[in-house]
Amino acid sequence: PASKLPRVGTTIFTVMSQLAQQHGAVNLGQGFPDFEPPQRLRDSLVRAMAAGANQYAPMTGLLRLREQIAIKSQRLHARRLDPETEITITSGATEAIFAAIAATVGIGDEVILLDPCYDSYEPAIELQGARAVHVPLLAPRFSIDWQRLRDAIGPRTRLLVINSPHNPTGAMLGAADLDQLAGLLRGTGILLLSDEVYEHITFDGAEHHSVLRHAELAGRSFVISSFGKTFHCTGWKVGYCVAPAALSAEFRKVHQYLTFCTFNPAQWAFADMLEHEPAHYLELPAFYQRKRNRFRSLLAGSRLKLLDVPGGYFQLADYSAIDDELDDVAFSRWLVEKHKLAAIPISVFYETPPATRLIRLCFAKNDDTLRAGADALCRL
Ligand code: PMP
Ligand code: GLN
Repeated sequence: PASKLPRVGTTIFTVMSQLAQQHGAVNLGQGFPDFEPPQRLRDSLVRAMAAGANQYAPMTGLLRLREQIAIKSQRLHARRLDPETEITITSGATEAIFAAIAATVGIGDEVILLDPCYDSYEPAIELQGARAVHVPLLAPRFSIDWQRLRDAIGPRTRLLVINSPHNPTGAMLGAADLDQLAGLLRGTGILLLSDEVYEHITFDGAEHHSVLRHAELAGRSFVISSFGKTFHCTGWKVGYCVAPAALSAEFRKVHQYLTFCTFNPAQWAFADMLEHEPAHYLELPAFYQRKRNRFRSLLAGSRLKLLDVPGGYFQLADYSAIDDELDDVAFSRWLVEKHKLAAIPISVFYETPPATRLIRLCFAKNDDTLRAGADALCRL
């Protein structure tokens, strides 16, 4: 039978992690911490299982966890959320992204993506018989090209996807960007999907401007986050989606038949962490800023040109002083095979890759890993 996703292969993250393993390489490719989640979180998970939290969670998620997300939203964004109708717990942000798209996008619709962008958006759009319209972000700061975005909007535009802090570039949207976006969408029926999985990883005192802070945008948005990033447990696959009641109702129609509900003991454990250790997420900027700064200073002796990293846990690096011939996919392959260092080529995040020579390096790693990775890169 004809493939429904003819242009999709195996994701770059799986490919690079497999190559890393095969070549015994330091893996700065796929984004995941190589250190453990907080002890309290792990203890809570075990306790929840011992206490019998082993059957289906509520379809919309454990109420206690949804209440804690509402408290966090009130504290950080001054937005009051109704845990009953506006918050849904999902099996990772990946499920939430898929469910939001499947719930709102249909055959012939268009969804605007800002390139480079995370790789799961487009297949979800194509599976609905819809089409992704790609608008490139403006290098070197990867800011929104407002004129091109305006031009990309048409009668079939159903949804716009934004991501801040941004994977792979680390760029962050400011309050002025959200105002501009609100102006652009005003009077249209276009919905917004705001991927905020790196919401707590921001640097140099910069604040994360969640769409939840913007009443007008929040009224037409799915705001999606992931506990995997915030609590160093990407393998647990728990995330959430905040949306107005009417949108959440549509979202839940998909969620209830996609997974029905999400791993129950982890929901108990995250509720416990949010309630009793909010310091964990409040201290995350300082925690990751140390890693970012350390990694950047270890790379100071290399021939890589490091781009600024306002947020998230990825460093973009220009390798053109090392090799200006190889494209980023070929360079990454050479790097893992010959120099035992796995990175992610950023062209895979584009519909039309620019001629830049950039790789993405994950610094959510122990000091030893950062040093080993930087050593390999400094030898080039
Ligand atoms: N969006 C972005 C921008 C991401 O980087 C990731 C994690 N790689 C996800 C979504 C998916 O998050 P999760 O692992 O919770 O499904
Ligand atoms: N989000 C992670 C990254 O960007 C990977 C997630 C995955 O492997 N699907 O590296």
